[in-house]
Parts: sequence; structure tokens; C-alpha cells
Amino acid sequence: MGVRLAGRVAVVTGGGSGIGRASAVRFAAEGAVVTVADLDEAGGRQTVEQIQAAGGRGQYVSTDVTRLDDVRAAFADAARLGGSGRLDVVFNNAGIGFVGAVDETSPEDWERVMAVNLRGVYHGCLCAVERMKAQGGGGVILNMSSAIATMGLGRRAAYAASKGAVYALTRSMQVDCAPFGIRVNALMPGTILTPFVEGYLKRSFAGREEEALASIRARQLTGELGTAEDVASAAVFLASDEARFIMGAGLAVDGGLTTGKP
Ligand code: NAP
Repeated sequence: MGVRLAGRVAVVTGGGSGIGRASAVRFAAEGAVVTVADLDEAGGRQTVEQIQAAGGRGQYVSTDVTRLDDVRAAFADAARLGGSGRLDVVFNNAGIGFVGAVDETSPEDWERVMAVNLRGVYHGCLCAVERMKAQGGGGVILNMSSAIATMGLGRRAAYAASKGAVYALTRSMQVDCAPFGIRVNALMPGTILTPFVEGYLKRSFAGREEEALASIRARQLTGELGTAEDVASAAVFLASDEARFIMGAGLAVDGGLTTGKP
């Protein structure tokens, strides 16, 4: 067990799969008491089993981030589990994908993506800031943006808009939160091989997944996709005191995707 987050009380939304799961497991391995807040009960409980099997402390709380009451209740449960009533680290990670140019995106599609990816993050930020201020300040908020917030990628109108807004929200919030000792940063992953991307490959390239994967691999300077653990390592760093001077940043974790062409 590490000690980089020893005694911290953390929440990871969307912690039942992919990047959220890897981050929840790493947070706990670094000494945090972790609440996994996810819609997916089976996935959330598996994450908690992994945490406990490694000797860490965690719990699953059924949460739909589009519902403010759910998020508020999950954060209260997290603070209770921690024992001190404090909440130290909030990772607003839950998100969904959507493939479509603007004229392939219905108003319902747009609302669905925004409800999870943007309103869900806003709910997490609102509840985190309220709690962190009430406890006398201090805390870390991580918001899940994406490399797509800084580069054009076709047929991602709603998704890109949601992630761009999360990045802008993060920077604006950091200004307001700094006087309270609250750090707010965003993660900007490139293509990370998780169930999210596996599902996209299956849906969009049925029978041609390997070919599609090869062309996606070629976009990174590494020639490889990232792993959930690559992003979790960045999340641990930003959540820890090692990142005390990092505020309002969007940390690229993208194998050079946004750096330039190989
Ligand atoms: P993932 O494997 O699909 O995990 C996302 C988790 O969030 C799932 O457990 C999902 O549950 C949950 N979730 C969805 N809607 C929710 C809601 N309304 N309330 C609570 N939980 C909800 O995805 P991932 O690849 O780890 O992605 C995590 C985040 O990183 C997302 O915000 C994504 O946009 C972002 N991101 C991913 C990549 C990538 O390449 N993978 C790149 C950049 C950014 P269900 O399974 O039940 O839906």
C-alpha cells in the first residue's frame, strides 16, 4: 500500500468500469477511503471487491450523476464512511460517448450527452464545493474532459461540446475555488482502451474492429492506445499533495495524440 492519499476521503463517479475503476483502485491503494458512485451496480461492486481484496477501504453507492439528489447523497455517504465527515477528493469521471456530426445528432441525443457529461460534472462540482467550503476549505476536484476538447475529431459534435465545456468549467471554477484551498483540474485523455472504446469499435466497425484499431493506434506518437491505469496514475498524482502547485490545468494523457503527427 502506498501513502500518497493516506487518510483522504474520495469519491469516483463512474467508478464501476474503465478509467473510474482503475482510479478508484489506485486511490484506495494509496490509502484513500473510496466511494464508488456509479449507475452500474455489478461493476461498482466489483470495483469495491478489488479495493478490499488489496486491503483497501471502499463502498459502492448507487448513483445517477444526472440526478443532483443522488450525487448529494453519495457524497454524504462518502464523508460518513471516512469517519471524519470530510470529503477530500472528488473525481467527476462518469461519462457516455456519442458518435455523430451535428446533423446526425437529435435534440434528444444532445440532451442525453449533456445530461451525463456536463450536468453530471456540474452536479459533482456543486456538491463538492459546498462540502469543501463548509468543512473549512481544502480539497481536490478532478473533472473528466478529453483530448477532444482541444482538437477537432469528426462526428463527435455533442461529445466534444460536452468535454470542451468541462474544461472551461474547470478553469473558471479554479479561480473561484483557489481562495478556499480547493484545487480543480481536468484530465484530457486520448484514446484509452476501456469498455467505452471497445463498445464504440463493436458498434461502429462491426467485423472490421482490428482494422479500425490499427488506424486509431497510428494516431498516437506511441503507436498504442492508453490504458485505464495510465489515466489513473495521472489522477493519483493530481489528487495528491505532489500536485499542490497545479491549478486549473488540463493534463493531457494521450500518448502524444495532441502533440503532433508521427
Ligand atoms: P466506461 O468504461 O464506459 O465507464 C464509464 C462508467 O460511468 C460506467 O460504469 C458507466 O455505467 C458509468 N455511467 C454512465 N452514465 C452514468 C451516470 N448517469 N451516472 C453514474 N455513472 C454513469 O468509460 P471510460 O472509458 O472509463 O470513460 C470514463 C470517462 O473518461 C468518461 O467521462 C469518458 O468520456 C472519458 N474519456 C474516455 C476516453 C477513452 O478513450 N476511454 C478518452 C477521453 C475521455 P454504465 O456502464 O452502466 O453506463
